[in-house]
Amino acid sequence: MPRASHHVDVAIIGAGPAGLTAGYMLGKQGFTVTLIEKDPEQVGGISRTVEHGGFRFDIGGHRFFSKSREVVDLWNELLPDDFIERPRMSRIYYRGKYYSYPLRAFEALRNLGLWQSTLCMASFFRWKLFPHKEVRSFEQWVVNQFGARLFGIFFKTYTEKVWGMPCDEMSADWAAQRIKGLSLGKAVWDGVRRSLGLNKQPNDGMQAKTLLESFRYPRKGPGMMWDAARDRILEQGNSVLMGHTLHQLSWDETAGLWRVAAMGRDGRLAMLTADHVISSAPMRELASRIHPLPATLPDAMALNYRDFLTVALMIRSDDLFPDNWIYIHDERVQVGRIQNFRSWSPEMVPDPALACVGLEYFCFEGDGLWSSSDEDLVALATRELATLGLCDPAAVAGGAVVRQEKAYPVYDDDYAAHVAAVRGELEARYPTLHFVGRNGMHRYNNQDHAMMTAMLTARNIAVGARRHDVWAVNEDAEYHEAGSEGDDAGIAAALRSERAVPSRIADRKAA
Ligand SMILES: Cc1cc2nc3c(=O)[nH]c(=O)nc-3n(C[C@H](O)[C@H](O)[C@H](O)COP(=O)(O)OP(=O)(O)OC[C@H]3O[C@@H](n4cnc5c(N)ncnc54)[C@H](O)[C@@H]3O)c2cc1C
Repeated sequence: MPRASHHVDVAIIGAGPAGLTAGYMLGKQGFTVTLIEKDPEQVGGISRTVEHGGFRFDIGGHRFFSKSREVVDLWNELLPDDFIERPRMSRIYYRGKYYSYPLRAFEALRNLGLWQSTLCMASFFRWKLFPHKEVRSFEQWVVNQFGARLFGIFFKTYTEKVWGMPCDEMSADWAAQRIKGLSLGKAVWDGVRRSLGLNKQPNDGMQAKTLLESFRYPRKGPGMMWDAARDRILEQGNSVLMGHTLHQLSWDETAGLWRVAAMGRDGRLAMLTADHVISSAPMRELASRIHPLPATLPDAMALNYRDFLTVALMIRSDDLFPDNWIYIHDERVQVGRIQNFRSWSPEMVPDPALACVGLEYFCFEGDGLWSSSDEDLVALATRELATLGLCDPAAVAGGAVVRQEKAYPVYDDDYAAHVAAVRGELEARYPTLHFVGRNGMHRYNNQDHAMMTAMLTARNIAVGARRHDVWAVNEDAEYHEAGSEGDDAGIAAALRSERAVPSRIADRKAA
């Protein structure tokens, strides 16, 4: 039996950074709002903090950084007293040694030892003399730049773990964008500046990302920010319906409103009506729940995602390393990155006698890793720490697994066309349906981008027109208004600065 319906100005699907920002901004202006969140307990989405026996951990570490003053101001408004500033340290771990990230050539050769370095240099010169002539793949690009041996050590394994495809199938343009900053001259200059203390600048959360020597972080993890946003929304008299998944969304033409059905964990439907709907749910899920089904449903269903899981281990030991996280370049293990939660904030690890690390595995929902039991994953993580020489398995006192489905929207060859098709149909048909956030817009973003799209949407709703184009918000959460002739200058600018991710080369045999 469905529960009785109530009416709000705006129904918001998802209580992650985007949904909560939209809800809070609208509530401030007096709108009535209900958020529908499928997680039974936690808000914050991918930016939540999971608690297990007093230990707290992120879904990947979440640094709070934005070039947008508006976003930083909102963070400060929501958490005025709880930000701490943390030194940033993250290195590559390879065969028992740590390497700076980005790589420093001299340090790398020194750490590798005389024999390996000689082989690396020989390989470097071999590929400089006889490079791949036609460079199409990531592998060919890096091999031409650094030699095959350094490619094998510092690029191949980690890249393949993260993206789930072989380096000889990834397109070369991604390498060119991604690795363009890696030059010996720049590394030496940065080193000199650092030793003179010239790189130290106060960090108010808006400094250029590449210069960040420190970052801001809520003392109890990112979830603290989003719990605070939820509390403010409740104080505004609005509601957050936890443990409910969007079931059906239908536009009632006669009444001129949305009918929203959300399924509780007990199988019962909660019903509400709304003038506007904001969705931060994955486009694939939203499209399949709209009634009548959109013609572009096949486009939405063709969107893909990469999933992610963290195995947190509590270890009777000092911290295993001082870094916030380390990158694991080792083909013997499946783990891609390891977080050291105490380095993020001492309050994440309540027991001074224990260390807490998070081993991060990139996977696809339903593959071997994803569907392993928690017990097996804790055992795997324990074994892998031992293989890496980071800790004695006997010292592991406990573990917990956090799975994050759809952690990364995949940018494959056709994704942009699919997103454009779905957006085109739904925005034209439903002026009061709004897309926001990461999977809501299929954008590989940070929190600030998700928040900026939500802020602009709240403004659009307040003025009763789509005056701001959320699709024109770029990776840095900057928003450029479209040209007066109504051209897509802003969107083009946003896409030009889109976060670089690898794409698969169309014809692999030719590479
Ligand atoms: C490993 C990793 C590291 C990251 N590091 C950083 C970082 O350092 N700094 C940074 O700023 N950002 C970082 N990010 C990005 C950040 O997590 C996202 O940008 C942000 O969480 C996006 O917010 P969102 O609200 O758009 O989406 P989400 O966080 O995905 O929230 C969406 C919410 O909607 C809910 N939902 C989904 N479908 C439905 C449905 N059908 N019905 C009801 N509810 C639904 C979900 O449960 C979720 O709560 C990182 C991401 C990852 C994966």
